Amino acid sequence: MLDADFFRRWLLTVAAAVDREADRLTELDSAIGDADHGINLRRGFTAVTAALEKETPATPGAVLVLAGRQLISSVGGASGPLYGTLLRRTGKALGDDAEVSAAQLADALRTGVAAVAQLGGAKAGDKTMLDALEPAVAALGDTTDSFAVARAAADQGALATVPLQARKGRASYLGERSIGHQDPGATSSALIVAALTETVEAAEVDS
Ligand code: ADP
Ligand code: MG
Repeated sequence: MLDADFFRRWLLTVAAAVDREADRLTELDSAIGDADHGINLRRGFTAVTAALEKETPATPGAVLVLAGRQLISSVGGASGPLYGTLLRRTGKALGDDAEVSAAQLADALRTGVAAVAQLGGAKAGDKTMLDALEPAVAALGDTTDSFAVARAAADQGALATVPLQARKGRASYLGERSIGHQDPGATSSALIVAALTETVEAAEVDS
């Protein structure tokens, strides 16, 4: 079972990955956007880290809702409200349970990803974060072992955005010129999914 501390460590692992990869994310966004994706996410996850240092939410749901709220309020770009919605809606779907199963998390994340699709009006194939998130949540199953499968699916989904033409977000303004570049949001989504399995693996090493 996964408790509030697991979710806290997941988000801190994401924050570290975003910090490490911020330059690459911004570089990808400079090709088909406005060169701020790494900056946006670094600001957002710095705020998440600060909030989690100040407060200790007691449940997985409350950890995710707190983090989602930070992303929405601290990030100006499109990715802030979208990732904020992902975490908030996933957190709300988890409810008040003190511990949740991998299967509950899988269902909750599917709800969160559906909320992202609804908010942004995008679907898989539009060259957005959904191209990594949708295959990832589809790959999640009843055990934490499925987190690694989801990670591979997200990585593959992010890579598969390269030949696509963007149909949503700032990159869509480029039309055919968006072809041939990996989507920054799909790339950061793959980091978020990878952090899930990294958090499980880190706990196994500790114990
Ligand atoms: P902005 O585009 O406002 O500068 P960011 O650079 O932080 O925001 O984020 C860009 C990423 O957001 C894109 O690479 C894409 O993955 C994602 N994105 C943009 N618009 C949408 C949308 N409507 N639905 C889903 N994801 C989107
Ligand atoms: Mg941008």
